[in-house]
Amino acid sequence: MADEKKKKTIKTLKIDVDKCNGCRACEVICSAFHAEPKYSSNNPARSRIRVVRDPLRDVYVPVYAGEYAAAECAGRDKYTIDGKEYDECTFCRASCPSRDEFKEPDSGLPLKCDMCEGEDEPLCVQWCITDALTCEVREEEVAEDETEEQEELEIGLEVLADKYGMEKILDAVARMSNSNSS
Ligand code: SF4
Ligand code: SF4
Repeated sequence: MADEKKKKTIKTLKIDVDKCNGCRACEVICSAFHAEPKYSSNNPARSRIRVVRDPLRDVYVPVYAGEYAAAECAGRDKYTIDGKEYDECTFCRASCPSRDEFKEPDSGLPLKCDMCEGEDEPLCVQWCITDALTCEVREEEVAEDETEEQEELEIGLEVLADKYGMEKILDAVARMSNSNSS
Protein backbone atom coordinates (compact mmCIF):
# COMPACT_ATOMS: atom_id res chain seq x y z
CA MET A 1 0.00 0.00 0.00
CA ALA A 2 1.35 3.44 -0.93
CA ASP A 3 0.98 5.06 2.51
CA GLU A 4 2.34 2.08 4.51
CA LYS A 5 5.25 3.12 6.75
CA LYS A 6 8.51 1.32 7.36
CA LYS A 7 11.26 2.05 9.92
CA LYS A 8 14.58 3.34 8.74
CA THR A 9 17.66 3.61 10.98
CA ILE A 10 19.35 7.01 10.89
CA LYS A 11 22.84 7.42 12.33
CA THR A 12 24.13 10.88 13.17
CA LEU A 13 27.77 11.51 13.97
CA LYS A 14 28.07 14.35 16.45
CA ILE A 15 31.27 16.34 16.67
CA ASP A 16 32.21 18.34 19.76
CA VAL A 17 35.03 20.49 18.44
CA ASP A 18 35.91 21.72 21.94
CA LYS A 19 36.78 18.17 23.02
CA CYS A 20 39.00 17.29 20.05
CA ASN A 21 42.74 17.34 20.86
CA GLY A 22 43.94 16.69 17.32
CA CYS A 23 45.41 13.23 18.05
CA ARG A 24 44.23 11.89 14.65
CA ALA A 25 43.41 8.43 16.02
CA CYS A 26 40.14 8.67 14.07
CA GLU A 27 42.06 9.10 10.78
CA VAL A 28 44.33 6.17 11.56
CA ILE A 29 41.58 3.69 12.42
CA CYS A 30 39.33 4.79 9.53
CA SER A 31 42.10 4.26 6.99
CA ALA A 32 43.05 0.89 8.55
CA PHE A 33 39.43 -0.30 8.52
CA HIS A 34 39.13 0.58 4.82
CA ALA A 35 42.51 -0.92 3.82
CA GLU A 36 42.57 -3.95 1.54
CA PRO A 37 42.81 -6.40 3.26
CA LYS A 38 41.18 -4.81 6.30
CA TYR A 39 43.66 -3.51 8.91
CA SER A 40 46.68 -4.44 6.73
CA SER A 41 47.94 -0.81 6.64
CA ASN A 42 47.01 2.69 7.62
CA ASN A 43 47.35 5.94 5.72
CA PRO A 44 45.39 9.02 6.86
CA ALA A 45 45.18 10.12 3.20
CA ARG A 46 42.70 7.25 2.79
CA SER A 47 40.61 8.25 5.78
CA ARG A 48 36.97 9.32 5.48
CA ILE A 49 37.50 11.74 8.33
CA ARG A 50 40.17 14.45 8.29
CA VAL A 51 41.12 16.68 11.19
CA VAL A 52 41.87 20.31 10.29
CA ARG A 53 44.60 21.19 12.79
CA ASP A 54 46.09 24.41 14.08
CA PRO A 55 48.13 23.37 17.14
CA LEU A 56 49.36 26.93 17.82
CA ARG A 57 45.79 28.07 18.43
CA ASP A 58 44.65 24.76 19.87
CA VAL A 59 42.03 24.51 17.10
CA TYR A 60 41.12 21.02 15.84
CA VAL A 61 38.10 20.43 13.61
CA PRO A 62 37.20 16.90 12.43
CA VAL A 63 35.45 16.88 9.02
CA TYR A 64 33.66 13.82 7.61
CA ALA A 65 33.76 12.93 3.91
CA GLY A 66 30.35 13.58 2.34
CA GLU A 67 28.97 13.37 -1.17
CA TYR A 68 30.96 13.22 -4.41
CA ALA A 69 30.70 16.41 -6.47
CA ALA A 70 31.36 16.06 -10.20
CA ALA A 71 32.20 19.73 -10.67
CA GLU A 72 33.61 22.53 -8.54
CA CYS A 73 30.90 24.65 -6.99
CA ALA A 74 30.70 28.33 -7.90
CA GLY A 75 30.02 29.51 -4.34
CA ARG A 76 32.82 29.39 -1.81
CA ASP A 77 33.04 30.12 1.88
CA LYS A 78 35.78 31.16 4.26
CA TYR A 79 35.86 30.50 7.98
CA THR A 80 37.63 32.58 10.60
CA ILE A 81 38.28 30.79 13.88
CA ASP A 82 40.06 32.44 16.77
CA GLY A 83 41.31 35.21 14.46
CA LYS A 84 42.72 32.88 11.80
CA GLU A 85 41.14 32.87 8.35
CA TYR A 86 41.12 29.41 6.76
CA ASP A 87 41.48 28.74 3.04
CA GLU A 88 38.35 28.40 0.93
CA CYS A 89 36.93 24.87 0.97
CA THR A 90 38.86 23.84 4.11
CA PHE A 91 35.78 22.58 5.92
CA CYS A 92 33.89 21.28 2.89
CA ARG A 93 32.84 17.61 3.07
CA ALA A 94 32.72 16.98 -0.69
CA SER A 95 35.16 15.03 -2.78
CA CYS A 96 35.45 17.36 -5.80
CA PRO A 97 37.85 18.18 -8.66
CA SER A 98 39.17 21.36 -6.99
CA ARG A 99 41.31 19.59 -4.38
CA ASP A 100 42.89 16.32 -3.25
CA GLU A 101 40.96 15.82 0.00
CA PHE A 102 38.70 12.81 0.29
CA LYS A 103 40.15 11.01 -2.70
CA GLU A 104 41.74 7.59 -2.63
CA PRO A 105 45.45 8.45 -3.14
CA ASP A 106 46.25 5.68 -5.68
CA SER A 107 43.10 5.61 -7.80
CA GLY A 108 41.76 9.15 -7.22
CA LEU A 109 38.32 7.65 -6.53
CA PRO A 110 36.11 9.65 -4.17
CA LEU A 111 35.94 8.68 -0.51
CA LYS A 112 32.75 8.92 1.50
CA CYS A 113 32.05 8.01 5.12
CA ASP A 114 30.05 4.76 5.14
CA MET A 115 29.52 4.73 8.92
CA CYS A 116 31.82 1.67 9.06
CA GLU A 117 29.27 -0.56 7.46
CA GLY A 118 28.89 -3.82 9.39
CA GLU A 119 30.20 -2.45 12.70
CA ASP A 120 27.90 -1.80 15.67
CA GLU A 121 29.53 1.54 16.36
CA PRO A 122 31.67 3.60 13.95
CA LEU A 123 35.35 2.95 14.62
CA CYS A 124 36.33 6.63 14.74
CA VAL A 125 33.82 7.00 17.60
CA GLN A 126 35.26 3.96 19.40
CA TRP A 127 38.82 5.27 19.06
CA CYS A 128 38.12 8.84 20.10
CA ILE A 129 39.12 8.75 23.75
CA THR A 130 38.07 12.35 24.40
CA ASP A 131 34.46 11.73 23.28
CA ALA A 132 34.74 14.48 20.68
CA LEU A 133 32.94 12.04 18.36
CA THR A 134 29.70 10.34 19.34
CA CYS A 135 27.07 8.51 17.35
CA GLU A 136 23.34 8.96 17.78
CA VAL A 137 21.02 6.30 16.36
CA ARG A 138 17.30 6.81 15.82
CA GLU A 139 14.47 5.21 13.89
CA GLU A 140 12.45 7.23 11.43
CA GLU A 141 9.30 6.27 9.59
CA VAL A 142 9.49 6.39 5.81
CA ALA A 143 7.03 5.36 3.11
CA GLU A 144 7.51 1.70 2.20
CA ASP A 145 7.84 2.48 -1.53
CA GLU A 146 10.65 4.90 -0.74
CA THR A 147 12.79 2.24 1.02
CA GLU A 148 12.05 -0.36 -1.66
CA GLU A 149 12.98 2.03 -4.44
CA GLN A 150 16.16 2.99 -2.61
CA GLU A 151 17.12 -0.68 -2.12
CA GLU A 152 16.46 -1.43 -5.79
CA LEU A 153 18.51 1.58 -6.85
CA GLU A 154 21.43 0.54 -4.65
CA ILE A 155 21.39 -3.04 -5.95
CA GLY A 156 21.31 -1.73 -9.53
CA LEU A 157 24.22 0.57 -8.90
CA GLU A 158 26.27 -2.20 -7.28
CA VAL A 159 25.78 -4.38 -10.36
CA LEU A 160 26.82 -1.52 -12.68
CA ALA A 161 29.85 -0.71 -10.49
CA ASP A 162 30.95 -4.37 -10.56
CA LYS A 163 30.63 -4.44 -14.34
CA TYR A 164 32.13 -1.09 -15.35
CA GLY A 165 33.96 0.20 -12.26
CA MET A 166 32.85 3.09 -10.06
CA GLU A 167 34.93 5.69 -11.91
CA LYS A 168 33.11 5.11 -15.22
CA ILE A 169 29.74 5.21 -13.48
CA LEU A 170 30.57 8.54 -11.81
CA ASP A 171 31.85 9.99 -15.11
CA ALA A 172 28.64 8.95 -16.85
CA VAL A 173 26.49 10.51 -14.11
CA ALA A 174 28.53 13.74 -14.31
CA ARG A 175 28.04 13.88 -18.11
CA MET A 176 24.30 13.24 -17.73
CA SER A 177 23.86 15.93 -15.09
CA ASN A 178 25.87 18.43 -17.18
CA SER A 179 23.75 17.77 -20.28
CA ASN A 180 20.52 18.03 -18.22
CA SER A 181 21.52 21.40 -16.77
CA SER A 182 22.64 22.92 -20.10
S1 SF4 B 1 40.23 10.79 17.67
FE1 SF4 B 1 38.88 12.33 18.62
S2 SF4 B 1 40.29 13.69 19.71
FE2 SF4 B 1 41.53 12.52 18.25
S3 SF4 B 1 41.58 13.83 16.39
FE3 SF4 B 1 39.89 12.42 16.14
S4 SF4 B 1 38.10 13.56 16.88
FE4 SF4 B 1 39.90 14.59 17.67
S1 SF4 C 1 32.27 6.36 10.65
FE1 SF4 C 1 33.74 4.84 9.87
S2 SF4 C 1 33.89 5.35 7.67
FE2 SF4 C 1 33.02 7.14 8.68
S3 SF4 C 1 34.79 8.42 9.18
FE3 SF4 C 1 34.34 7.18 11.02
S4 SF4 C 1 35.72 5.40 10.80
FE4 SF4 C 1 35.58 6.38 8.78
